[in-house]
Amino acid sequence: MERATLLRTISCSSSSSVLVSARFFSRSTHRLYRLPKRHRLIPNIGHSSLFRRHIGLVSAASRPSLHLKKHFSNFSVQAVATSNPQSAPEALGADDSVAEKLGFEKVSEEFIEECKSRAVLYKHKKTGAEIMSVSNEDENKVFGIVFRTPPKDSTGIPHILEHSVLCGSRKYPLKEPFVELLKGSLHTFLNAFTYPDRTCYPVASTNTKDFYNLVDVYLDAVFFPKCVNDIKTFQQEGWHYELNDPSEDITYKGVVFNEMKGVYSQPESILGRASQQALFPDNAYGVDSGGDPQVIPKLTFEEFKEFHCKYYHPSNARIWFYGDDDPTERLQILSEYLDMFEANSAPEESKIDSQKLFSEPIRVIEKYPASEAVDAKKKHMVCLNWLLSETPLDLETELAVGFLDHLMMGTPASPLRKILLESGLGEAIVGGGVQDELLQPQFSIGLKGVSEDDIQKVEELIMSTLKKLADEGFDSDAVEASMNTIEFSLRENNTGSFPRGLALMLRSVGKWIYDMDPFEPLKYQEPLKALKARIAKEGPKAVFAPLIEKFILNNLHLATIEMQPDPEKASYDEAIEKENLEKVKASMTPEDLAELARATHELKLKQETPDPPEALKCVPSLSLQDIPKKPKHIPTEVGYINGIKVLQHDLFTNDVLYAEVVFNMSSLKQELLPLVPLFCQSLLEMGTKDMEFVQLNQLIGRKTGGISVYPFTSSVRDKKDPCSHIIVRGKAMSERSEDLFNLVNCVLQDVQLTDQKRFKQFVSQSKARMENRLRGSGHGIAAARMDAKLNVAGWISEQMGGLSYLEFLQALEKKVDEDWPEISASLEEIRKTLISKNGCLINLTADGKNLKNSEKHISNFLDMLPNTSPVGSIPLSSRLSPTNEAIVIPTQVNYVGKAANICDTGYKLKGSAYVISKYLNNTWLWDRVRVSGGAYGGFCDFDTHSGVFSYLSYRDPNLLETLDVYDGTSNFLKELEMDDDALTKAIIGTIGDVDAYQLPDAKGYSSLMRHLLGVTEEERQMRREEILLTRLNDFKDFADFIEMVKDKGVVVAVASPGDVDAANKLRPNFFEVKKAL
Ligand SMILES: [Zn+2]
Repeated sequence: MERATLLRTISCSSSSSVLVSARFFSRSTHRLYRLPKRHRLIPNIGHSSLFRRHIGLVSAASRPSLHLKKHFSNFSVQAVATSNPQSAPEALGADDSVAEKLGFEKVSEEFIEECKSRAVLYKHKKTGAEIMSVSNEDENKVFGIVFRTPPKDSTGIPHILEHSVLCGSRKYPLKEPFVELLKGSLHTFLNAFTYPDRTCYPVASTNTKDFYNLVDVYLDAVFFPKCVNDIKTFQQEGWHYELNDPSEDITYKGVVFNEMKGVYSQPESILGRASQQALFPDNAYGVDSGGDPQVIPKLTFEEFKEFHCKYYHPSNARIWFYGDDDPTERLQILSEYLDMFEANSAPEESKIDSQKLFSEPIRVIEKYPASEAVDAKKKHMVCLNWLLSETPLDLETELAVGFLDHLMMGTPASPLRKILLESGLGEAIVGGGVQDELLQPQFSIGLKGVSEDDIQKVEELIMSTLKKLADEGFDSDAVEASMNTIEFSLRENNTGSFPRGLALMLRSVGKWIYDMDPFEPLKYQEPLKALKARIAKEGPKAVFAPLIEKFILNNLHLATIEMQPDPEKASYDEAIEKENLEKVKASMTPEDLAELARATHELKLKQETPDPPEALKCVPSLSLQDIPKKPKHIPTEVGYINGIKVLQHDLFTNDVLYAEVVFNMSSLKQELLPLVPLFCQSLLEMGTKDMEFVQLNQLIGRKTGGISVYPFTSSVRDKKDPCSHIIVRGKAMSERSEDLFNLVNCVLQDVQLTDQKRFKQFVSQSKARMENRLRGSGHGIAAARMDAKLNVAGWISEQMGGLSYLEFLQALEKKVDEDWPEISASLEEIRKTLISKNGCLINLTADGKNLKNSEKHISNFLDMLPNTSPVGSIPLSSRLSPTNEAIVIPTQVNYVGKAANICDTGYKLKGSAYVISKYLNNTWLWDRVRVSGGAYGGFCDFDTHSGVFSYLSYRDPNLLETLDVYDGTSNFLKELEMDDDALTKAIIGTIGDVDAYQLPDAKGYSSLMRHLLGVTEEERQMRREEILLTRLNDFKDFADFIEMVKDKGVVVAVASPGDVDAANKLRPNFFEVKKAL
């Protein structure tokens, strides 16, 4: 099983796979930074995303998508392509009289063509709770309950509550039923989100019994949580003073506290927060629902309880059901809970006031933590933010604004994006374009990596470009490309690993939460048709120019945010915190201190004491009989076209053809490796002899659903040679498969790799992105670094996406000016080496008829490929030196890793390893690194292809202490006691990962990965049997092997200078120190 799956406990969908996947859906890349403003109980992390390295064995693999919900601001309503093409289901709502009897009144009912669903809106008569019951044929059922939770200050109440309610409830009085569900259910989604004004609890599963189990645990958690009677949960998840011994210093601890410290260490998060707060000074959006680490310690338990009592109430709830389960059953489950309440006044109190528009623009200057190492002058950011309207937009306007957003910013060829990047005034775009998730829509755009003297120039350029677009309009090819992209995305409805029903729910709730019509956001066909007709009749200029003028150029509600790098800020913040804590300590009597030390100890003890087995049994679970004995089958036919191997997967894809063309990278000269990601970008973003890159990009937008190119590297089990490839992914409507292959050929062979100016932009953007990764996903950088010390595949990946890559980019930036001809020649050499029939492989996913039809186009495509023979090869000894390293960055939280290759001691892979790794993640590491250590995440990961077993932590206040926890793992396993019930849960949870729900394109992609990594159907069957037969003894045996990680493992930490110094004082020369930012 791949890392992605093992990490699923902590990465519900790896939206962090920016490097590889964003380009496939390139129009969504510019939205990335806004997403994290929603706080999640579990972060979407997973270093597996680094070049999709470890994908494979028993499970599911491709997680191609970002949260596609936002992939397109206003059009993101996703239609359901049912798995059965013939039938528009006669889905039935619950019988009205039955609903009446259960206490619900039907408000309205509609059949929604776009998602082939019958949707009924009910109101619970006694409390006023509203329910959307959506019935269709989708087996991936979704439930969600959403409360309006506007904060009054930045103490983070909504966020801390979001974490806390899942820590035990009336019917499930455990420490963390949520973790029991992570361990032992077949969920396809399980998490919670805090928005600036609402809190959302969604679950999903394809197994009906499992689904209702999840629903019941969530309902009990939100309405009857233990946390309101138990201050210890509040302390653990929110904040508390920690004092191990009265002679030591007091520190702050708490999961949310540290999560938010991490958030406030990231410049782009600081910018996003500053923008929102500047735009909305007068309502709930003017404070941080997630919590400002400097304000969180002001929160009291009383306020926390009161907030729950008021807002987590049926009267303030909106509930969503979706899928192929029985609609009557849904109401039955709900009535049991809702009937226990009387209506309250929350609906009035939780209303979000709208922000009045400004009469003149404002300007805000913020500082962010930076180190002195970099040229601070060039590290400014500037972002312009407009609040578009005092009231929500009508649907037609909203749709037009979304379309405009895509036209201006959606692709690298879009004018606003392109002009800003080409100006050379900054390194990368910031600001997410149109944001429509809150009550009033906003528009944001800016640049980072700007020199202080150029800030005004950036602002002027943004304004003049917008004016130019309003004056001149957009050319018809660009409009057609955007239209096709939008329609393709709606038709394909590819939500990646995110359940379709959840994407729909978030759309619907986006209006429903403001007391608007929950059906409307689900229906896009009519308004889209109307917009199309208007564009055809009046021309794009007449449609879009007035929007730019009204909402941006003539709009005085503009907040300009300027961000200044401040080398002092991190240490200043730390000093303030220290001073506050010293004051607290000074104000305490010796008795107080003794009491605090006692309370600290008591909290730790509680955290570290496992729930008794009887208590654990109360969390409902499936039995092994409910689990299919065979792995999920993906139809695969292996054939040849013109002598080239072609894998075909006959699956219903709603007439979309998905294609991957794979080239072998193993003969590339090693010094060219770090250029490969830039080579990939150049293929898609430079022009040909006859076409400017803008035209080429529009052509791809008009004819296809997107093309992406990226490297893929992994170890292969029991083989010395790594698997290393370039993968070209493309998709199109089947009738356009000829266009698709022609365009792929054009990208691979005709694009001229000579555009110095554009290349220089790619280097700056990549550098900015890598710096961002280092701060925001330091665990991924640490993992890549450890792998590079342990095996050649890891070394290759690190060259193309780790710290080595960042160092390469820093040097390359200068070289582009000095020696462009040599770089251009190297890019050409990469092309000559890689793009060849030799070692090429094709993977296709579509239904049988469409597969057949595409064959002749593939044959033509292959005829055009050159046939070169391999030249060099990467020495199998390539490694980084195996020393312990600390990568120092300006941060308030650390990322700590330790790893070793356990196959070196003779470990032979067994299916039980998946069960054990997952179990460790949800028990030992969760309890010690997260719950008592206070880190946002802690997990282990076993790469079954390379044999590397690694530990990682995420936003971690500790460093050496975390390593001690890792080292205690083998003992934990040796002493482990576990009854049959717990073992069964661990097995079922593992099967849930292995059988992860996949849309058809992901199935075809997984099959390709297995082919590349040599994983056979027989092996999958064998591993599954091994998983199902896992016994306690396997855990104990495994302990012996991971003992070597403790003894011989290599350590890499991405950490703050202070913590690294302290560690090296305590253990002299433990870390070799490397400054990175
Ligand atoms: Zn959180």
